[in-house]
Amino acid sequence: MNSVFKNWKDGAILLTDAGWGDSGKGKCVSALKAEIGAKIIGGHNAGHTIVTDKGEFGLGLIPSTIINKDSFNLIGQEVVINPLFLINEISGLKKLGIAVSPKNLMIDARSHVVMKWHEVRDALSEEARGKGAIGSLHLGVGWTYSDRVNRRGLRLEDILAPDWKKRVRTELKNQIGVIEDMVREVKRKTGVKSKVEKDLNEREIIKDMAYARKFLSPFVGNTIDFVWKALDKNKKIVFEDSHGAMLEVSHGSWPFTTGVNTSVGALHRSFGGKAVRSLKKIIVSVKAYQTRVGGGPLPTENFGHFGNYVRKRGSEVGTRSGRARRCGPFDAPAIRYGLNIVGAGQNDEIALTKLDVLSGLNKIPVCVAYKHQRKIYAIPPRMDAQFLIKVRPQYEYLPGWKEDISGIRKFESLPKGAKKYILFIQKLLGRKITLVGVGKHQGATILPRVT
Ligand code: GDP
Repeated sequence: MNSVFKNWKDGAILLTDAGWGDSGKGKCVSALKAEIGAKIIGGHNAGHTIVTDKGEFGLGLIPSTIINKDSFNLIGQEVVINPLFLINEISGLKKLGIAVSPKNLMIDARSHVVMKWHEVRDALSEEARGKGAIGSLHLGVGWTYSDRVNRRGLRLEDILAPDWKKRVRTELKNQIGVIEDMVREVKRKTGVKSKVEKDLNEREIIKDMAYARKFLSPFVGNTIDFVWKALDKNKKIVFEDSHGAMLEVSHGSWPFTTGVNTSVGALHRSFGGKAVRSLKKIIVSVKAYQTRVGGGPLPTENFGHFGNYVRKRGSEVGTRSGRARRCGPFDAPAIRYGLNIVGAGQNDEIALTKLDVLSGLNKIPVCVAYKHQRKIYAIPPRMDAQFLIKVRPQYEYLPGWKEDISGIRKFESLPKGAKKYILFIQKLLGRKITLVGVGKHQGATILPRVT
């Protein structure tokens, strides 16, 4: 097989995630020498971290290709934009010596804007849930998507329009109405008055948007037209996903999901069917063990030594939330299901990340199947929470290895246990592993020879 990590001549690829996210997609994208990198979905609640010789870069809305100086970067229309966050991100990258200008970054005019009122709605919906609150970060991303599907809210092009002030004021009025309804709902559901800060100061909002439109307008354009032309020229484009298949709204562990699609579904939402049909490859970033942020089932969750060990060694703490991630052994049934969701076939490739985190364990459990009502499933028939809480993971135990592998760059030089682990996962998934992550640093990868 001709791996794109070794030899990528032309054409578009999609970098996605078959699990619960946080698998190291940022590093995988930066390992590709893309001419164009395009973010296809998500908001500033999800992000990537990339470690290079220049330092550690936390990216929120800008694609990971920004750190490759020759790539052109796009933020697709299905990414929701918090303008002040994006301005901060651009300024932060510049301070770290990364060039960001309209010469290498374009944001789609049709992207929805995350506004202060979305944060308020986020806080109110959590308050209305009372004890059942899901621990949202109140960033307003979900509510912005909700507005988008309900055909309301503001898009970047509204902020750039000549009558932008009128548009913002009209929307503020609409949103105050929505918020008043939500406040009443809090009282009705919880019996107590809402304590959420609802200060939506019109003057302040207009001031912020005046600043945002001035700063961002040179970056705003038509990314769809740009991508379609680049596809016609067979340019090397990497489409960068957010989240993971298990968290996607249509196929994930419902109702513990995000509000959006991932993979080809997300690609379609940002760049249409032409981009989907043009894909040369799908690369799936798969973590060597499982993690999950927040609530919802994680069938292999481990509360013992394994879970604590990988949480500590893998620094499994949410970048934005600071919350410890829930951890457990590799879950082949979930990832096999996820591979079908993302659409990865036999000719697509897997990047197995964070293998170094497993170094030092005596034996490593791997979930190879689920048991449910006396039936064994290699691929679960459904993935919703109702089903997942009832499955019993079936484990096989592989020998571990003692050595630190973060300095190793050749498959042949890996300890026996690590080689065995990679080949075992490859067999379980029926797809080739063409990149193995062995450390945080951008260069800490092994590209196994695949046939
Ligand atoms: P994403 O949510 O899938 O985009 O995940 P990120 O790109 O933010 O990566 C999650 C974390 O894993 C970051 O802190 C990365 O630096 C780290 N990381 C990525 N690959 C590896 C790896 O192979 N080994 C280790 N130890 N850390 C990694």
